[in-house]
Amino acid sequence: EGFAALGISGPLLKATHAMGYTSPKPIQQQSIPAQMEGRDILGIAQTGSGKTVAFSLPILAKIVGIGTKRVARTCRALILAPTRELAVQIEEEIRAMSKGLHISTALVLGGVSRFSQVKKMAPGVDVLIATPGRLTDLVREGEISLAETRWLVLDEADRMLDMGFIHDVRRIAKATHKERQTALFSATMPAEIEKLAGDLLKSPARVEV
Ligand code: AMP
Repeated sequence: EGFAALGISGPLLKATHAMGYTSPKPIQQQSIPAQMEGRDILGIAQTGSGKTVAFSLPILAKIVGIGTKRVARTCRALILAPTRELAVQIEEEIRAMSKGLHISTALVLGGVSRFSQVKKMAPGVDVLIATPGRLTDLVREGEISLAETRWLVLDEADRMLDMGFIHDVRRIAKATHKERQTALFSATMPAEIEKLAGDLLKSPARVEV
């Protein structure tokens, strides 16, 4: 029952329960099993639906399963968010869920000093949460490589489009590993987002709440 029935187990399941998450929300029920099977996701979901847990738990489960393998200046999973505030919230939630699991996270955001971000990325991290503009700069400058990034999440894709990040998002996706698993979440599905989903996702499971 609960998250165990969705394929989450061991210390990650414990940490999830410790956060008070015992019964999965509909978006989590629909998307987690598909992601655990390795499928891409097209999620139509609003803030408050539980989408952060939905896209994070399967990635954490897979990283825990594979074990630590860090390569300098790379991330194994990348989560793109439109704003600094959202990126910070996502990192907090992931850190809470992965408490005691030795999963490293980093934030790459615009508007703050890049020095500490570059330093944090130097040994390589498991999960990077970033806004598209600053990440594009650091990838172009060779400070960050996405060549080993096999999980990509686009959160609030419609807002990234509205904010003019669409070209950066496409450039970033192109720089990731060819064999990657991708999840795209958006509150609305304008034509440009459908097009982006068509270009970046491989026969995705479509989930809508
Ligand atoms: P989000 O849609 O990711 O912004 O999540 C909305 C809120 O729901 C967050 O504050 C989470 O802490 C909470 N939440 C996510 N999943 C669950 C769950 N299965 N049970 C209870 N609360 C949850």
